[in-house]
Amino acid sequence: MIIKQLQLGADKVFCYVLACEKTREAVVIDPCGDEQKILNLILELHLKILFIINTHCHPDHTCGNKVIKEVTQAQIIRHEADELFLQDQAAKEYFNRQGFTPSPSADTLIHDGDQLFFGNCSLRIIHTPGHSPGSICIYAEGNLFTGDSLFVGAAGRVDLPGGDFTTLIESLANKIAPLPDDTIIWPGHDYGDSITSTIGREKNENPYLGGEW
Ligand SMILES: [Zn+2]
Ligand SMILES: [Zn+2]
Repeated sequence: MIIKQLQLGADKVFCYVLACEKTREAVVIDPCGDEQKILNLILELHLKILFIINTHCHPDHTCGNKVIKEVTQAQIIRHEADELFLQDQAAKEYFNRQGFTPSPSADTLIHDGDQLFFGNCSLRIIHTPGHSPGSICIYAEGNLFTGDSLFVGAAGRVDLPGGDFTTLIESLANKIAPLPDDTIIWPGHDYGDSITSTIGREKNENPYLGGEW
């Protein structure tokens, strides 16, 4: 599996492109601005994008959905709980005020344990509510794309609408900590001392995953 990490947009969010080396079928995780850079990579690597997957509904992670969908015809995929959450008028207005390009509605809603296939590769959805009700982590071949649920040395904020601290800690303890220690973590923001980590390292050093505060 090819993994490309791109740091994009005003908020310097990480977008990921995962591709099957053989068939060139691919997915984009969190197209977060600078869409032309994503499209250039797609052209350069001769990729066919099947899915646009959002780790959660916050506009800094979804603002590139519209353009990438228009160009690639890929399906937009996100967890049902975030799609429902965005129907709440107060939440919608809060996030619209941030001024990002709004995302079209999801084409397919996903749930914990769902699998998606592209070429000879597959990924599995892990529902990790807390940063938002429908936050997910995406597991693919020993790699975990954590969105804003888990950062290197930290975790996502819980003070935005839909956030809840206890729920986040439970998600990380029950769904993420049990993964193998050598699982590579690919976060949604560059808030740590490196741009990637492992479950083992975070269990030792990250208080949100059982390390000392
Ligand atoms: Zn977020
Ligand atoms: Zn974010």
